[in-house]
Amino acid sequence: MEMEKLVSLCKRRGFMFQSSEIYGGINGFWDYGPLGVELKRNIKDAWWRDMVTGHDDLAQLPGAPAAYEMTGLDCTIIMHPQVWKCSGHYDLFHDYMVDCRESKKRYRHDQIQGRWVEAKGKKIFATAGSDSESPEADLERQALKFFGMRSKNADELKWDGPLVSLTTVDDFEQVLGPDAKSLGSLTPPREFNLMFKTTIGALGGDSDAAFLRPETAQGIFVNFKNVVDSSRVRVPFGIAQVGKSFRNEITPRNFTFRSREFEQMEIEFFCHPDSSQDWYTYWRQRRFQWYQDMGLDKGKLILREHHPEELAHYSIGTADIEYAFPFLPEGEYGELEGIAHRGDFDLRSHMEGKLDPNTNPMTVELNEEGKPKHRGSGKDLSYRDDLSGERFVPHVVEPSAGADRAMLAFLCEAFTEDEAPDDKGKMQTRTLMKLHPRIAPIKAAIFPLVKKDGMPEMAQDIYRTLKKEWNVFYDEKGAVGRRYRRQDEAGTPFCITVDGDSMQDQTVTIRHRDTLDQWRVKADDLSDELRKLIG
Ligand code: ATP
Repeated sequence: MEMEKLVSLCKRRGFMFQSSEIYGGINGFWDYGPLGVELKRNIKDAWWRDMVTGHDDLAQLPGAPAAYEMTGLDCTIIMHPQVWKCSGHYDLFHDYMVDCRESKKRYRHDQIQGRWVEAKGKKIFATAGSDSESPEADLERQALKFFGMRSKNADELKWDGPLVSLTTVDDFEQVLGPDAKSLGSLTPPREFNLMFKTTIGALGGDSDAAFLRPETAQGIFVNFKNVVDSSRVRVPFGIAQVGKSFRNEITPRNFTFRSREFEQMEIEFFCHPDSSQDWYTYWRQRRFQWYQDMGLDKGKLILREHHPEELAHYSIGTADIEYAFPFLPEGEYGELEGIAHRGDFDLRSHMEGKLDPNTNPMTVELNEEGKPKHRGSGKDLSYRDDLSGERFVPHVVEPSAGADRAMLAFLCEAFTEDEAPDDKGKMQTRTLMKLHPRIAPIKAAIFPLVKKDGMPEMAQDIYRTLKKEWNVFYDEKGAVGRRYRRQDEAGTPFCITVDGDSMQDQTVTIRHRDTLDQWRVKADDLSDELRKLIG
């Protein structure tokens, strides 16, 4: 699938627009249009329903070590600045960037990739930027140009080693920047904290500085005691939150994949340390399955376990659910969700002060004066099991998903072109969005075949009845074939048509978006039928 086609459909049909587009847009920010807002809301609602309100806390679900409860929270975007100091974001939530003195472009250090190559007695590190679709080909072009060689002499280039990240290179004097003509134009990497800073109140001194949250998770940790004290939840249980997060990404790109403002759907699952490994295994599988249930092709999904050396020692594991987005090179995947075993790092850091993740057992990180570098709340965030009497700090398993990335994956998966007959029976290319009915922005469109003989009245009655339950759409304008096509592009799974026979026998036709099957049902049975079809 060509990404341009999807991007253009998203704009044309009102799924997504660039933010502030009439002023030229603003990089890394996106608005959701009339169809997009419904799709995104449906994704968040499906997640909330499946994980929280629809969760059966009486049964032991397949793969789960025990029955468990789920509850929710909605916290503020701006929180006490100490939250980010104890969570580690203040000190550690940064990327490294490099600037090119020649092209004036900025890159994320780890996203520049390249290869060592030798020609004419000189060896350089040729590079390509992160948006390169075929880095190998770009590197060859770049190297040929640099050495002043023709493409027919490409086999005179001596490549040394595979494609690697710029992070493996120490001497930048030998590096040819992705958009540079001469060597050594890249600056040394510099730290860049990704949190957006803001100021609280009118005075606006340094002590009033605050941050827009870069994740929703911390709101859950700092409310752990409130939730335990105010509800009857018992460990093991999970707290879910959906909401905006902000990261000042160095290189926002790939449509909404890497944005600066986005929404997360996060769960912090609190359990006994002894069973945390089993809960981690459960959540990985549970979340991996969810994306498949919502329509993503299993063949395009992977569950990538992080290497043990990538993990903090307190963590048993972290796995990413990744999808083969069409804008990535063949064989590469982009993260949809991370499932992390976080041990007791977060609760203890908010209790005692930011822990040093490199200590084992973990102790509070100290400053030069031997005092806690970032003081905790001092509040007791341990949990007492009222049945066993045991008191402990729960371990946490965190499935952390992005609503915008999930939406982008669903859109990529849904985009389809096939052939279907037009009004005159001639085969035409058809564009359709095969969105799962649960998340489709419009569940059904209702058409009178023609604008007379009582058909509009009957169709409008049906529309009003269905509208009470679902987002449905009424359309009586133009040829019915064209009306079908518009709904196919919007991802509407079912079209309901009122025709001449409907007037006689009170039946209507339902047309299935993907199979083009049509069948008749009694108008009175439509709600039941749709309920079954949407699932
Ligand atoms: P990446 O490595 O892609 O930057 P991450 O590992 O930093 O992602 P997490 O901190 O684990 O991401 O965030 C959890 C989820 O939030 C991600 O899996 C993703 O779905 C979403 N997310 C994170 N950053 C962004 C972003 N800049 N734009 C859109 N979604 C994001």
